This record gives sequence, C-alpha cells and structure tokens, in this order.
Amino acid sequence: MSSDTQPSDAPETTPFSEQQDRAFLEETLRLARLSVEKGSSPVGAIMVDAQGEIIGRGRNRTGEPFDEDEQRPGNASLAHAEMDLYYQLERLKDPETLTLYTSLEPCLMCGGASALLSVGRIVWATDDAWGGSGRLIAWDEHPAMQQTQVQPHPFADLEAEGARLFAPEAKKAFPEEGWKLWQQRYPKETSGL
Ligand SMILES: [Zn+2]
Repeated sequence: MSSDTQPSDAPETTPFSEQQDRAFLEETLRLARLSVEKGSSPVGAIMVDAQGEIIGRGRNRTGEPFDEDEQRPGNASLAHAEMDLYYQLERLKDPETLTLYTSLEPCLMCGGASALLSVGRIVWATDDAWGGSGRLIAWDEHPAMQQTQVQPHPFADLEAEGARLFAPEAKKAFPEEGWKLWQQRYPKETSGL
C-alpha cells in the first residue's frame, strides 16, 4: 500500500477521470458534513464500482443511536464511515475492481478491513496525521496490502476543505500529541482552533 510505488500486479492507471475522482471525493465531504449535522464525526465514504457507479454510501455514526430501520451501526466507537459502508454492502462482489473514496485517510481498523476485503483502490481527500493507518503500519511490507492501490489527497483544495472540516474533531478527540501532528500537517486549517 503505497502512494509512490505500485505493486506490479496492481492497475497501472486509475480507472476514472480526474473529474470523476473529484466528484466522488466531493460526495464523501458532503456525507462528512451530514455526519456533523447528526452529531457524529465528520467522515464520509463511498464505494464505486468499475463502471463508475456509486454502490454504497457510508458516514460516521459514532454520535448517533443504532438505526433500527436501516440497521446501521450507531452508538458504537467502531461506527466509522467505512464500517457503515461495509455493513451495507455485505459481501463484496469483485472487490479488486472497487474503489473506496473517503474524506479522511482510513484508520487502522478501516484500512485493515479494506485490505482484508481486497478492495482494489483507496482514494482519500485529507490525511489523518494522527489516526491514519499509513502512519501506523508499513503497508508496503504487509502481504495483505499488496493488491490495493492507494491515492492520498489528489486535490489540494479538497484536501484543505477536508482538513478544515475534521480539525475541530482532531482537537477534541485526539490526545495532545495527535493534535500537534495535525497542527504540523495542516497549520493553516488548524489555526485559530
Ligand atoms: Zn476508521
């Protein structure tokens, strides 16, 4: 799992146009804003199939009760946007052809789940300097991650938007050390908080 070097058997090129990647990431940011409105953390995620169709939408639900009607995982610390998405999608069909878009770099749990499920490609708007999985595991060396193509923050403006959106949560939820990493990584977006 690397942004610099791709494993030889991973797709060499991205399946979608820059415009499509951009629209998909914008959708994750919309879902992230919706989560804040509902009292949860600002993270959104979608799954896109090989044809460019959105086959599932997830968002963080950690601040919400369990949704009986939709059977969504609320009121649980693991109700992250990606987990919400994976529970909806049930068994993935041809996971290697799918792209996961997220507003924020997946955490250890969600990055791990994506690897376990052999999702072909992961794209995120904004790095998570503290909780992001890339900081915690040497993905390149992990056998389960060799099939997954990773594309961090392809658009500077969306990256900044995602950082501004998540920064208050980073300050609130992360320990001092984690917030410092956020301030270093995104000085402009975290200033004044
Ligand atoms: Zn997560």
